Amino acid sequence: MNENDRHGLLARVEQMAKAGNLTASKAACKAACKAIDPAIRNSPVIRVRDLVKNYISGAETLQILRGINFEVTWGCAVAISGQSGSGKSTFLNIMGGLDHSDSGSVEVAGTEISGLSESSLSLYRQRQIGFIFQFHYLLKDFTALENVMLPAYMTGMRKKDALEKARLLLGDMKLNDRVGHFPSQLSGGERQRVAVARAMVNDPDIILADEPTGNLDPRNSGMVAELLYAAAEKWGKTLVLVTHDEAIASRAQIHYYLEDGLLYGGEGTIS
Ligand code: ADP
Ligand code: MG
Repeated sequence: MNENDRHGLLARVEQMAKAGNLTASKAACKAACKAIDPAIRNSPVIRVRDLVKNYISGAETLQILRGINFEVTWGCAVAISGQSGSGKSTFLNIMGGLDHSDSGSVEVAGTEISGLSESSLSLYRQRQIGFIFQFHYLLKDFTALENVMLPAYMTGMRKKDALEKARLLLGDMKLNDRVGHFPSQLSGGERQRVAVARAMVNDPDIILADEPTGNLDPRNSGMVAELLYAAAEKWGKTLVLVTHDEAIASRAQIHYYLEDGLLYGGEGTIS
C-alpha cells in the first residue's frame, strides 16, 4: 500500500467515525481508566461454573473442558498453564465470547455471556475484553500509534483523545520512540508490546492473553510479560494469561494448570 492509499484509508475511517457509522460506545469514550471501585475490589469479575466443551470429531466426542469452576477477583492476575491441546485457548475463547460452551455458565462483570446474541457478544468483546494472541495481528499499513488508536477511534472516542490514550499506552510499553514505525519496522517483542497497548486502549475490564510471548526469545518474553503485568496493575485490569513459561506464570497472583479438562492449582484443586 502506498502513502496515498494509506491516507485514503485513514480518511475513510475518519469519515465513517464522523458520520456515526461506527458503533459509538460511551464506555470506550472514557480516556481515563476505570479505577476499581473499592466496593467490588474483592469480588469476582469472572465467575465460571461447570463449564463443559466438547468437539465432535467424526464418530468421536472429544471432551475438552469437563466441568471447569473458576473465579477471578477484580484486578487480579491469573496464569494458566497446561500441555498443548489441553484446552487453554478453548477456555480463553469461551470467556472472551469468541467460542460457545456446551453447558455451564460464564459470568463476566455481572453479565451471563452464555445466553448473549451474536451482536451483544460482539459489543461485549469490544467493551469488556482486550485480547492478546501469540501472533500480533497488527495492521501492516498502519503505524504503531495508528494500530493502537484505531479500536478506540472506531468505537467513538474523539480522535484527539484516542491518539492521546494510544501515546500514553505506547509510553507504558517503552515505545515512545517507535510510535511512527510500521509493524515491518518493529522487532517481534516490539510488535507484541504494541498489541498489549492496543488491547488496553478501549479500557476493557479484562485482558485475555493467549501465549503472548510464545513466539519470542527468552529476553523479549520476559520484557513483554513484565510490561503486560505492570500495565494491567497500573490500569486496574484483570489479567488471565496463558503461558508455558514458569517464570512468567510465577509473576501472577494465582497459577492454575489445565489438565484432562479440569483446572488444578491456585489455592488447591478447585475443580
Ligand atoms: P491449547 O490451547 O491448550 O493448546 P486448544 O484449546 O487449542 O488447546 O485445543 C484443545 C483441543 O481441542 C485440541 O485437542 C484440539 O485439537 C481440539 N480442538 C480445538 N478446536 C477444535 C475444533 N474447532 N474442532 C475440533 N477439535 C478442536
Ligand atoms: Mg492454545
